[in-house]
Amino acid sequence: MPALLWGAATDAGRIRSDNEDAYVAEELVFAVADGMGGHQAGEVASALAAGTIRERLAQGAPTVDVVVAAVVEANAAIFQTAHANAAQRGMGTTLTAVAVMPATDGRPEQLAIVNVGDSRVYLARGGELTRATIDHSYVQELLATGHITEAEARAHPRRNIVTRALGIEPTVRVDSWVMPLVRGDRYVLCSDGLVDEVDDDEIHTILRRLPEPQACAEALVAAAVANGGRDNVTVVVVDVLDGVDPEAVAGIPADATDDDTVPLTRVMAVADGDPITLEQPVVPVTAKVKRQLGRQMTVKTFLMLLGAAVALTVVIVLVLVALTGGDDGGDPTPTVTTDETLPASTEPESTEPESSEPESTVTTVTPTRPQPTITTAAAEPTTTDSG
Ligand code: CA
Repeated sequence: MPALLWGAATDAGRIRSDNEDAYVAEELVFAVADGMGGHQAGEVASALAAGTIRERLAQGAPTVDVVVAAVVEANAAIFQTAHANAAQRGMGTTLTAVAVMPATDGRPEQLAIVNVGDSRVYLARGGELTRATIDHSYVQELLATGHITEAEARAHPRRNIVTRALGIEPTVRVDSWVMPLVRGDRYVLCSDGLVDEVDDDEIHTILRRLPEPQACAEALVAAAVANGGRDNVTVVVVDVLDGVDPEAVAGIPADATDDDTVPLTRVMAVADGDPITLEQPVVPVTAKVKRQLGRQMTVKTFLMLLGAAVALTVVIVLVLVALTGGDDGGDPTPTVTTDETLPASTEPESTEPESSEPESTVTTVTPTRPQPTITTAAAEPTTTDSG
């Protein structure tokens, strides 16, 4: 058994009468789920997620695939329940979880981390606080593609849009990571009700001030409520009392990626500072988000088309010159742009048709953080507008 000590706290906050968050804090598995949906459906969704995780992972997990499978099972349970009950139609939940993978003959104990949505796992290690998960949110995609800054993300009018959640589609994409158990590590699982009210610096200050995890979880929740409490807030704090010597993982090179392990140095490169809020009721707006992203990419598209137009013009001119004054000048037909005229062209070329651009902007985001393992059967991200 791993030497873990943990604490958990939750609060409905100052505005909401119901608490749609749910959490799991047991010996070998920890999770936070942030439910979405009117008429208490969000509570149903988050409870289904937490219940599935608790049931399937109470003994930990032999592999990370087992943890991912539990998330997929939770997704299916919520989706099916929603479709069997009109009052719960459209309900969903975020889910972030940490499960112990007990030692085997071949490897020591490890932790599996999974995430869907914008709840988070933080890791405090060696005097630094980093995010171990990547938010699945609209503003995170804008951040990752360089369209907005961290400060803009914090005040973005669409920061309440999550791009993945459980229960919305029959399948779900699950991010997963495997971490070594490192002595002295402190993990914090939380709903966005914490990060919306308490920035990363204040979170870190509280984490360093309170060595006891239950007191720490309660203090973090209290800080969120004191700072506004506009949303439900849930925090689970997990301390690793024994494990690998911190010195042993400090020097892992950034590109060492065996067996899905995310090395410490890559986790430490995670950016910080953007809170995402998630509000009910849930309204799917996949098309709307795609249009938004499409507009964000119009400058890039324009430059690509401009480059293609320049290349086309050069080709036409060269063809006309080669024909030495063909009297049917100005022929705009694209069939003259065969490669025989420009074997070594250095002009920019259009590599993809414009019509496919909005789809690709949704699915080809380039994260600035460590790439998670993504398990999916879905064709594209689930998009949910909670506003
Ligand atoms: Ca929330």
